[in-house]
Amino acid sequence: MKCRKCSDKAVLSIPRHNTALCGLCLTEYVQIQVERAIGREKMCTKENKILVAVSGGKDSLALWDILLKLGYHADGLYVNLGIGQYSVRSRKKVEVFAELRNAMWFSQDATNDEGTGIRELADLVRRPACAACGCIKRYHFNRMAVDQDYDVLATGHNLDDEAARLMGNVLHWQQEFLEKQGPVLPASMEGFAKKIKPLYRLTEREIAAYCVVNGIDYIVQDCPLATGSRLLVYKEALNVVEQASPGSKQSFYWGFLAQQAEKFKLDHQSMSERDIALLHPCEECGQPTSSAMCSYCKLMAKTKTHKKVS
Ligand code: SF4
Ligand code: ZN
Repeated sequence: MKCRKCSDKAVLSIPRHNTALCGLCLTEYVQIQVERAIGREKMCTKENKILVAVSGGKDSLALWDILLKLGYHADGLYVNLGIGQYSVRSRKKVEVFAELRNAMWFSQDATNDEGTGIRELADLVRRPACAACGCIKRYHFNRMAVDQDYDVLATGHNLDDEAARLMGNVLHWQQEFLEKQGPVLPASMEGFAKKIKPLYRLTEREIAAYCVVNGIDYIVQDCPLATGSRLLVYKEALNVVEQASPGSKQSFYWGFLAQQAEKFKLDHQSMSERDIALLHPCEECGQPTSSAMCSYCKLMAKTKTHKKVS
């Protein structure tokens, strides 16, 4: 198989674009897609300070690498979830990545004072691990971005992630989530960081190939708590469709953004405005919330109560 651009040996076929690319042309293609995402969606500029949420996996490390190579001011934030050896290994990947590039990064512990990890915290409050984890990660990412004066918080969500999430939200008609399906979530008020997803134009396969070609050493193992996640089921279903009809994922998600996303935003504008009007600082941590305590502080308070009782 030859590269369709330069006739060198191709390393990846991209059926949705009816093309195949060598390592150099793949790298150029990936970087162009990220620049296009940033430019079209007005995500950020080279004058902005970007905080990249890094997990040690391929998507977040590729995103950090691309942003640095394109000349953006991008620092990393790793949140230690206390998931045994998985967390130890993923943190090491981030550390080595940053050292090699002389990049600035932070590490934040999501475990409680006694070192209890996500699995145990979720068990204590009888919530699915991913739900507790999502709440805790959102808190730390937002808190660090706001406290350290970052202009945007960037995450490594790719086309597969966004198409799968859209599928789940459409299957269950979760309108309040459809409103937030875009690759940019503005900083709706003080205390909330602007959030961007510069990889939404690229698939998992393309990003994995980018990592291999560019020598990015990432954690290949999936999170051991991911089993049973509905998102994985939607991803598998979309992969079957994509195999039979290349380009389906792209037309599903990009088509939603071009033709439908605005409608959901408009339909729910008044609801969002009402939500914002209800926001005030959390009595524990000061982050914006519509109830007395934010969901993170409620979760932490519950874990303490359960510990005392047991
Ligand atoms: Fe957290 Fe679930 Fe992702 Fe694991 S799979 S990192 S528990 S959200
Ligand atoms: Zn709080």
